[in-house]
Amino acid sequence: MRVHNFSAGPAQLPLPVLEQAASELTDWRGSGMSVLEDSHRAKNFAACAADAEATLRAVAGVPDNYRVLFLSGGATGQFSAIPFNLTAAGGRAAYLNTGQWSAKAIEEARRQHVEVEVLADEAASSYTTTPAPGSYTVPAEAAYLHYTPNETIGGVEFPDVPEAGDVPLVADFSSSYLSRPLDVRRYGVIYGGCQKNLGPAGLAVLIVREDLLDRARPDVPAIWDWKVMAATDSMLNTPPTFSIYLLGLILHWIQDTGGLVAMGERNEAKAARLYAAIDGSDFYANPVEPRSRSRMNVPFTLADPALDADFLVGAHEAGLTNLKGHRSVGGMRASIYNAMSDEGVNALIDYMADFERTRA
Ligand SMILES: *Cc1c(COP(=O)(O)O)cnc(C)c1O
Repeated sequence: MRVHNFSAGPAQLPLPVLEQAASELTDWRGSGMSVLEDSHRAKNFAACAADAEATLRAVAGVPDNYRVLFLSGGATGQFSAIPFNLTAAGGRAAYLNTGQWSAKAIEEARRQHVEVEVLADEAASSYTTTPAPGSYTVPAEAAYLHYTPNETIGGVEFPDVPEAGDVPLVADFSSSYLSRPLDVRRYGVIYGGCQKNLGPAGLAVLIVREDLLDRARPDVPAIWDWKVMAATDSMLNTPPTFSIYLLGLILHWIQDTGGLVAMGERNEAKAARLYAAIDGSDFYANPVEPRSRSRMNVPFTLADPALDADFLVGAHEAGLTNLKGHRSVGGMRASIYNAMSDEGVNALIDYMADFERTRA
């Protein structure tokens, strides 16, 4: 039996993808072995990695002057790689701080000797807002502007793309990757860990405009050097082959289910139903300003926190798992990424209504 898994990450994967991976595990492409056991230089894996990249380019509309890199170390690895690749030590970079993930990216940039300018800091609202367009100015000398389109913990999402002028825009898309159409040309660098919307933990996918590959510090470790990784087709060392294979299956699933337009519409509808259920009740509440509510991570509280534990036990019995909120926020959090079905969201809404009727 499969549960409806609301985990924030690693997160639920599409069933057809898991079934295909299972069916191919002992004999992949007629090779008599699994993808886990084959050389990354062998023709089967080379074709698999090339197909994952081609499918990503088709699904996301990645222009020819952007490179796609498959990197280890998750999004956190890129928190360090970004300053190394885009600024000299002592250089300046601008960041928007909208939650715990942007704060971590800022902290790491400072560790890498970047002079960080925080142009907007939403800590004052306890991270329930995003900065309004036009409320900050990006200094022309900044090496880049970094922001987090979706804050996984606070459940805060930018409704718009920040305007950075000629300064390269760098976006940590970990928790909203390929959840709706995007215009890659507006960005210098798009990156994210895969374990929320695109599959396995540990793998990061980075999309970088080619002209930005010439800005790295001379002492950047080779494994973090985007130019080196681009020159070696992300195979400077043994890449996480199984993760890249699984990413490819997920990208095909996105393509086969209608691509990003259909995905965006489904995600919008799922989130709208859940927020309507929260707003329509006096028992549940969500603290985020309406324009910045996340379509991916929906935190909510119960009017009486003493009922939290019972809510979670009952949810588990109903096949609804991993709803406990992040320890820093409390309450509940429903992560409803690409792979969360309509049935899953509807089952949660029904359970919430039942719980309110019988326990509130
Ligand atoms: C999960 C997450 C990260 C961290 O990803 P790792 O792969 O664990 O390094 C970074 N940023 C955001 C927005 C996230 O949701």
